[in-house]
Amino acid sequence: MTEIRDGLAGAIGETPLIRLRRASAATGCDILAKAEFLNPGGSIKDRAALGIIRDAEKRGWLKPGGTIVEGTAGNTGIGLALIGRALGYRTLIVMPETQSQEKRDMLRLAGAELKLVPARPFLNPGNYVRVSERLAGELAATEPNGAVWANQFDNTANREAHRTTTGQEIWRQTGGRVDAFTCAVGTGGTLAGVGLALKAHRPEVQIVLADPMGSALYEYYAHGHLRAEGSSITEGIGQGRITRNLDNAPIDDQFQIGDAEALDAVFDLAEHEGLLVGGSSGINVAAAIRVARKLGPGHTIVTVLCDHGTRYQSKLFNPAFLRERGLRVPDWLERTPIE
Ligand code: PMP
Repeated sequence: MTEIRDGLAGAIGETPLIRLRRASAATGCDILAKAEFLNPGGSIKDRAALGIIRDAEKRGWLKPGGTIVEGTAGNTGIGLALIGRALGYRTLIVMPETQSQEKRDMLRLAGAELKLVPARPFLNPGNYVRVSERLAGELAATEPNGAVWANQFDNTANREAHRTTTGQEIWRQTGGRVDAFTCAVGTGGTLAGVGLALKAHRPEVQIVLADPMGSALYEYYAHGHLRAEGSSITEGIGQGRITRNLDNAPIDDQFQIGDAEALDAVFDLAEHEGLLVGGSSGINVAAAIRVARKLGPGHTIVTVLCDHGTRYQSKLFNPAFLRERGLRVPDWLERTPIE
């Protein structure tokens, strides 16, 4: 056995599980975060991208030189494009215009062909997911090497990737000492996949949804109907329907987290832990703290740091952006170079 990882695909996963010292000290619990921003594409979505590609290869849908088409908030597209380059596939990414400039730039560097569309609800044919499905159908008929639609929301190869990797890693890294797992949902792949894996080892593990404002899932799991209110500056999370990846997800509890609370967590991680992460990570850590307070001292709560903060310099880490929205700007964010 050597410790060499085989190419970019081999470098995905096996991320460190980091004890968040301040959150742990404040709650008397062990609050542990999976450092998914350390994946080669900078986010947890590398795992889903690789799982979907390997599944499509196995089924014979994706052939050498074939095209991968996907609608994405950005991170899945970055993962697909990088893996595509490493394995010899072309990628065509459809993304809403509302996502950060950094994600657009990263997609270009990763070699993706990018189509930007206005943000539209899922039922509108102009919605980025629906556009990607149509484009994949057209390209499948015209491209010499064929095309596949990754379909991260309803393709359960996504949650399988988390069930067989992320979830098993958490179980192994904690030595089975885990009382709760909490994270936000975009496709639901992470929450459902990790949830299924941990429940199979220990059915008492609490699986907890962390939901941003503007998402319909909190109401659904709390009261049985899909209903959304408000909005959030976080990217990549929030959902208005039960995707196939969420179907039968073993969810025990749910919290709704607003932007101010999520940003407090983001800035706290940056200032006191040296961990630079995006807004969904803030929601996850804020929810882990709430779970810790609900369960009481002595418990172990695991969550996820989904992507790297550098992806949001023009938004979460931009004082003007924060001020326009009435959000707190930490002093250190406004420091200018010493003359
Ligand atoms: N955080 C970020 C930054 C993301 O891009 C995503 C995926 N869109 C998620 C969290 C949610 O992960 P999942 O799709 O597995 O629910």
